[in-house]
Amino acid sequence: MATSSYPRCRLCRREGQKLFLKGDRCTQKCPMNNEKRAKPPGMHGDSVMRRKVTEYGTQLREKQKLRRIYGIIEGQFRRYMDEAMRRRGVTGENLLQQLEMRLDNVVYRLGLAVSRSQARQLVSHRFFTVNGRRVNIPSYQVRPGDVVGVHESKNGTAIIKAVREKLHTRGLPEWLEFNHNEMTGRILQEPERRMIDTEVQEQLIVEFYSR
Ligand code: SF4
Repeated sequence: MATSSYPRCRLCRREGQKLFLKGDRCTQKCPMNNEKRAKPPGMHGDSVMRRKVTEYGTQLREKQKLRRIYGIIEGQFRRYMDEAMRRRGVTGENLLQQLEMRLDNVVYRLGLAVSRSQARQLVSHRFFTVNGRRVNIPSYQVRPGDVVGVHESKNGTAIIKAVREKLHTRGLPEWLEFNHNEMTGRILQEPERRMIDTEVQEQLIVEFYSR
């Protein structure tokens, strides 16, 4: 499984905004709260900020931002884009839908992990089931009607106990429902754009790949 090992706060600094890549830990000591540190990383960070951004540069940054929010490497992102263009409907929305329907993202959205990167790790470590069967592929695409649950052998682990305590503090998007007693989540429908709170201008990304 390919992932980026680049320090996550640097990714936020490069994009010039908080991407909340570290989940709960993002509330403490976030460098984006500090004016001096909230600039692109590296010795040329100041000059990068002053540089005039071209149309291409704006589209590129938006694409990189979305990739980083969901933790997707370039090749896989390109495949999502190809599929989004192939499907009927609005290409940008199709792209976001595929990213939202990844198993690691659904685990995160259900509140069963504090960040997408933790969700990815837990999925890889066989913590979750889809319709009763263990799935350890973070990019697995769930479908409406699927039920995601914690595998019984992982219910007593410290990480799931910690997650359980925080469950009530997390909001749930309207395309998902959660059963607290059974610790299972159901996918009610594919998310529409208005149900996805990811702050990104997906049209710029479509334009980037349409060049
Ligand atoms: Fe981004 Fe979170 Fe690091 Fe802040 S603490 S820069 S939001 S990853």
